[in-house]
Amino acid sequence: MTRPIDHVLSRLSQYDGAPIRLMEVCGTQTAEISRHGIRHLLPPGIQMISGPGCPVCVTVTAYVDRLVWLSRQENTTVVSFGDLFRVPGSRESLSEAKASGGHAVMVYAPSQMLTMARQQPDHQFVFAAVGFETTAPIYAGMIRRAKEEGLQNLKFLTSLKTMPAALRWICDHEPDIHGFLAPGHVCAVTGIQDYKQIAKEYGIPFVVSGFSAQELLAAIYALVCLQGKGELRNFYPSVVRPEGNPMAQSAVQEIFEPCGAAWRGIGRIEGSGLRLREEYREFDALSDGLDEDVGKNQHCQCARVLLGEILPTECPLFGTACTPATPQGACMVSAEGSCFHYYTSERGR
Ligand code: SF4
Repeated sequence: MTRPIDHVLSRLSQYDGAPIRLMEVCGTQTAEISRHGIRHLLPPGIQMISGPGCPVCVTVTAYVDRLVWLSRQENTTVVSFGDLFRVPGSRESLSEAKASGGHAVMVYAPSQMLTMARQQPDHQFVFAAVGFETTAPIYAGMIRRAKEEGLQNLKFLTSLKTMPAALRWICDHEPDIHGFLAPGHVCAVTGIQDYKQIAKEYGIPFVVSGFSAQELLAAIYALVCLQGKGELRNFYPSVVRPEGNPMAQSAVQEIFEPCGAAWRGIGRIEGSGLRLREEYREFDALSDGLDEDVGKNQHCQCARVLLGEILPTECPLFGTACTPATPQGACMVSAEGSCFHYYTSERGR
């Protein structure tokens, strides 16, 4: 009996239309596409490229520099997830700052910071709050809790991004993209209406996809079939409801408001970020105005990789000066970065 995945692969392999480029804008999809070797299963006429879907990768250098600066302030500790630790700033990474006397600790869950703040009330903690619509509700819950408990020693350096304005920017500036895999996790929170609207405005198909090989291939095949149509299909209905998650949305709206945000490789996009509302600004750790994006290694091509303008392998530093052990840019550090995945999963395939 033919398996559904074989049927999809067979239809994809018969594609003989004009060359098309399809973009995923979700770090987990980037990771799974590489892990399953999906690029190598597609015919030459269908190219998958990775967009700005990795939260650490799109975070600008000025943000890393601010973390480094904060780690050197008296009586202050920066708290961060692991990936951000090794992202190069303009002069050093947080991990290098720590090695030379800065105060920084790595956590696996943001809630660990609440515990630290309760246990050491005389010490200041700053959490590196990067991410998209998926992590914003977690930060919102922490900040609400901190306010309820009256914690005064905890702040957030926020660099939270929202995807729709960035996708509009890509549609305006990168005309050679013929369809998008809409981010499944983000859509689970926000719902699909924004993406439906963008599809209609630009006449580009969007398909909401899950993360298994079968789900990704089915979504890619749907994008191929929908070429030239401004329509959205939801191929992940077990997780993504059209209206999203209203409880998570209302938690985010209570604590954050929309703002402009700087994206690596793109610059500032109005309405593409979240900042603390006035009522919660006491928890902000000087998050405004972090736009500068000049990394330590000026030859790093992360900005172009993030827009799908070049493949990671086309960067002259890929696999030589830049490897996961010696990352020169954020895209090689992050477990959701495309350079990292081209290096760890796709080389030699
Ligand atoms: S291979 Fe390294 S230097 Fe090149 S774009 Fe990727 S992260 Fe930057």
